[in-house]
Amino acid sequence: MSLAVGVIGTGMIGQDHIRRLTRVLSGAEVVAVSDIDRTRAGQAAPAGAEVFDTPQALIRSDKVQAVLICSWGPAHEEQLLDCISVGKPVFCEKPMVTSEAAALKVIDAEVAFGRRLVQVGFMRRFDADYRRLKAVIDGGTLGLPLMYYSKHRNASVPEGLYTSDMPLNDTLVHDADISRWLLSDEIASVEVRLPRRSRQGGELRDPHLVLLHMASGAIVDVEISVNIAYGYDIRGEVSCEKGLAALPNRPAPVVSDQFGIRQAIPEDWRERFIEAYDQEFREWIVAAGQGTATGPSAWDGYAATLVADAALRAVTSGGREEIAMRDKPALYDTAAKVAAA
Ligand code: NAP
Repeated sequence: MSLAVGVIGTGMIGQDHIRRLTRVLSGAEVVAVSDIDRTRAGQAAPAGAEVFDTPQALIRSDKVQAVLICSWGPAHEEQLLDCISVGKPVFCEKPMVTSEAAALKVIDAEVAFGRRLVQVGFMRRFDADYRRLKAVIDGGTLGLPLMYYSKHRNASVPEGLYTSDMPLNDTLVHDADISRWLLSDEIASVEVRLPRRSRQGGELRDPHLVLLHMASGAIVDVEISVNIAYGYDIRGEVSCEKGLAALPNRPAPVVSDQFGIRQAIPEDWRERFIEAYDQEFREWIVAAGQGTATGPSAWDGYAATLVADAALRAVTSGGREEIAMRDKPALYDTAAKVAAA
């Protein structure tokens, strides 16, 4: 039986995930949609899906078994809490929420419910290249990881909509999450350095150099450039005691013409992580069908929120900002058990 999914937020990524659930993957059906803009929701709705006036009505509908939240960040908290209150599995795009207080409310609600329901959209963990990189680090043949270099480069961001705080509270969350996951470590403190401003983004604060100090003593060096013009370029290299392990360059045809010999660079996140998003949803469909969630959790969403907050403080202070995490609830220690996909 197909998982009956309700989608909240039918903008850019909402539409891409509807396409994925409707035309690419099996095991799920989009039966309901909702967006602040009802016309946009109606246009995005697949045949037969009901358009709901409010996210609350969609979440409470008997026809919806599991919810996919693709609205903008500040709306996530209320929508997540509503899903947990009715015990429905929910996939929430990053950022999970936009404040520490909101993250703790989500964690408290899920812990009180007693079973994992929330998966956060950190899709890099599902990317085959990142998974192979993690297998090398975990295998231990290179010794302990000491430094990780993470490059996060966007061709451009929407002018006016993407503000100077967003490289740190919207974009950095991916690098923060993948660093914790790759190195099996927590982020203890954060520094931010601001190089010369790129003229590509006008007044936008860009680029950023962020140092994540891990609890183990390892250091992660993150470049966030959001107007770098040439494409969407994600790189990663882990420097260990006895060697290096890096993400491969993405396979792409080698084109030879009058401009030289070159390989194409992905235009945006949809192209670079297309297989990762597919795998992310394959695993979500299986877990949600069993009434639970696996993958990045509300705890991981909370950790990323703390890093974003600390990075923004570090811009103002110019110093190293500490992160204090609450004790981890047992719910997030063990992976929920689900049948293999
Ligand atoms: P978007 O194109 O602006 O779409 C968001 C949609 O949600 C818009 O239609 C918006 O309507 C609607 N919306 C806003 N508040 C709502 C509410 N309270 N209830 C219902 N609908 C609401 O943005 P997007 O690029 O799709 O991003 C959506 C989310 O996905 C963001 O949290 C973003 O950070 C995340 N995202 C993740 C990735 C990733 O790599 N995992 C990539 C891109 C985006 P209005 O336009 O009228 O406000």
